Amino acid sequence: MIYVLSFFIFLIGITVGSFLNVVIDRLPAGQSIITPPSHCPHCQQRLRRLDLIPVLSYLLLRGHCRYCHAPIPRYLPAIEAVTGVIFLLFFLKYDLGALWIISALYSAILIALAAIDIKDGIIPNKIIYPVMPLAIILSLIFLPPQGEGLFVSNLTLAALYSSLLGGAISFLILFIPCLVYKEGMGWGDVKLAGLTGFMLGFPSSLAAIAIALISGGIMAVALLLMGRKNRKQTIPFGPFLSLGALAALAWGQNIVNWYLGFF
Ligand SMILES: [Zn+2]
Repeated sequence: MIYVLSFFIFLIGITVGSFLNVVIDRLPAGQSIITPPSHCPHCQQRLRRLDLIPVLSYLLLRGHCRYCHAPIPRYLPAIEAVTGVIFLLFFLKYDLGALWIISALYSAILIALAAIDIKDGIIPNKIIYPVMPLAIILSLIFLPPQGEGLFVSNLTLAALYSSLLGGAISFLILFIPCLVYKEGMGWGDVKLAGLTGFMLGFPSSLAAIAIALISGGIMAVALLLMGRKNRKQTIPFGPFLSLGALAALAWGQNIVNWYLGFF
C-alpha cells in the first residue's frame, strides 16, 4: 500500500512540477498562467495531452518537439522530476496530512523562485508578497511549539512568535550585506530570506541561512577557480536560499541539534 501511495504522491509532484514550469516561464514576463494553452515556443504548435505528460513525454519524444523537432530544454523535465522527488521525500517524513500539504506547497514555491532567479535574475514580488502573510498564518499549523522557551508560554502564540522571529532574523542577516555589498546581494534576496524565516521559524531558519551562505560560497569559489566567472560577475543567491530552506524544511531541527551538540 505504501508503494502505491508513494507512486501516487510522486505523480502529484511531477504534475505540480509541470505547472511550475508554466509559472517559471510566464510569470516573470507578466503573462497569464492560464491562457494561451501550452505550445511549442519554436513552431508555435499547440501541444496536445500526449505531449504534456510530465517527464514521460520528454523521454518518449527523446527531448524534441513532436512537430518541428526543436530540442526541448532539459530543465523542464528536471523541474518536474525534482518536484516529484521532493514531494515524495516529505510524504516519507510527514505522512499524508496537513504537514505534508504545507511542506509540499512551500517546496513548490521555493523551486519556482529558484528557477526564476536562475533564468531571469529576479525574485518576483508577485510570489513573495502574498506568500509572506500565508507563511505566518500557516506557522500556527506547521511549526512545532519550539519557541516555547522564548518568552511566551502560550503554545499557539509560540508558533507565531517562532515564525516572526525566524523571518526577522533571516531578514536582518542578509539586510546588512545587502547595504554594504550592493552588487552581490539584492533586495529580492533579503525579502526571500525573510520569507524562508517565516516558513521555517526560529531556529530552523538559521540552518537554512547557514546552508545558503556555505553552498553559495563554495559555488562562487568553484566557479572562480574554474575560470567560469570573474570577480566582478555575480551569481544569483536566490537558488542557494531556496536550497537552504528546502534542506531546513526536511532536516532543520536535526541540523540545529547537531550544531548545538558541539557545545
Ligand atoms: Zn515545435
